[in-house]
Amino acid sequence: MRKKICILGSTGSIGISTLEIISKDKKNFDVILLSGNSNFKLLISQALKFKPKYIYSNNFFLTKKIKYFCKKNKIIIISDLNKLKKIKFDITISAISGIAGLLPTLNIIKFSKKILIANKESIICGWKFINKELKKYNCSFTPIDSEHFSISDLIQNKNKNLIKYIYLTASGGPFFNKKINLNKVTPTQAVKHPNWKMGKKISVDSANLMNKILEIIEASLIFNLPLNKFKIIIHPQSLIHAIIEFRNGLSSMLYHNNDMKIPIANSLYDNFYMNKENINKFCFEKKLSFFPPNIKKFSSIKILGLNKILNETGFILINVLNEILVERFLNNKILFTDIVYKLRVILNSNLVKNYLKNNRIRRINDVFKAYNFARSLIN
Ligand code: NAD
Ligand code: MG
Repeated sequence: MRKKICILGSTGSIGISTLEIISKDKKNFDVILLSGNSNFKLLISQALKFKPKYIYSNNFFLTKKIKYFCKKNKIIIISDLNKLKKIKFDITISAISGIAGLLPTLNIIKFSKKILIANKESIICGWKFINKELKKYNCSFTPIDSEHFSISDLIQNKNKNLIKYIYLTASGGPFFNKKINLNKVTPTQAVKHPNWKMGKKISVDSANLMNKILEIIEASLIFNLPLNKFKIIIHPQSLIHAIIEFRNGLSSMLYHNNDMKIPIANSLYDNFYMNKENINKFCFEKKLSFFPPNIKKFSSIKILGLNKILNETGFILINVLNEILVERFLNNKILFTDIVYKLRVILNSNLVKNYLKNNRIRRINDVFKAYNFARSLIN
């Protein structure tokens, strides 16, 4: 039986990598749902190739542009995933970027047997609700953010009490070891990641190490471990993605090339991926080096010391404020260094401290209340 596939965010970097794997094994996969936001040309070319039954988008302009194409090709456009009927996807890939992925991720779980989540912002803002849906609908979950995929693999069948520290590796981004005035960095320079080809938002997050802060929060939620178990280590080659230091004197790490197709493919094939392309050929000649992060240069790390902010509501504020500031930087409205500077100033403000005291996250609406509060803090 061909596996029924649903891809939220098929026109993005993760979505494209997923479709590349699937296109080499079409006899085993049937792409039922694709989704995009603004790149209608790519969405149409994907739809022509994979012939999905549905296209999901809540972008009015996109749906208007593809309406005729979909009618001609008998593709149903949906703007609300709850309108899906009598369908169970074998595998869903959640790869929308930002908090925009939260509701689609929550809504698709009931239609999915298994979900691979790349969209870290939805985990940071709504893990409690995602986890509840996973249990309710008996949907299995694999994180495909490479560090989390590695941790998941390294700690399976291990007693959690044995874990001393978990190191998440960071390449250091485009400005690692570069003498550069970070105030003058342009969006084009910031999104030019040395090792990975990714969407703009995560590329900027990688350039100032905010990506690691978000990933530590993501990991602490997924693996139910305290934040202080996690450490950041700079590893410019991006070949090791996580290292687990156990209390028994042993440490484990996972090696794979800096290609997201490895965690995605292994998750699609339930760890039985026969890598015919050799995209992960082990290379003995490649040097592996590790350095402690430079906190002076990457002051985002100081956010991990804001103990009073680091709770469920605080995670949402950190995530949303960062998303807005990154967008402002990409639109040339603020400096690269302003992202972390403004984020830290706002997080340390009394407005935020008071909000955190009085607002707990009980229902999903509380997430969006925190979202609106965070937006109101940036003018
Ligand atoms: P991207 O910018 O390349 O693609 C984002 C996708 O989301 C596109 O399909 C876009 O159309 C869709 N989208 C954006 N805004 C939307 C909205 N408001 N509503 C509906 N759809 C919307 O991003 P990416 O690099 O593929 O990253 C996707 C997610 O995966 C992010 O959360 C990122 O942190 C995570 N991730 C990415 C990588 C990577 O290598 N790219 C690695 C680890 C984790
Ligand atoms: Mg990652």
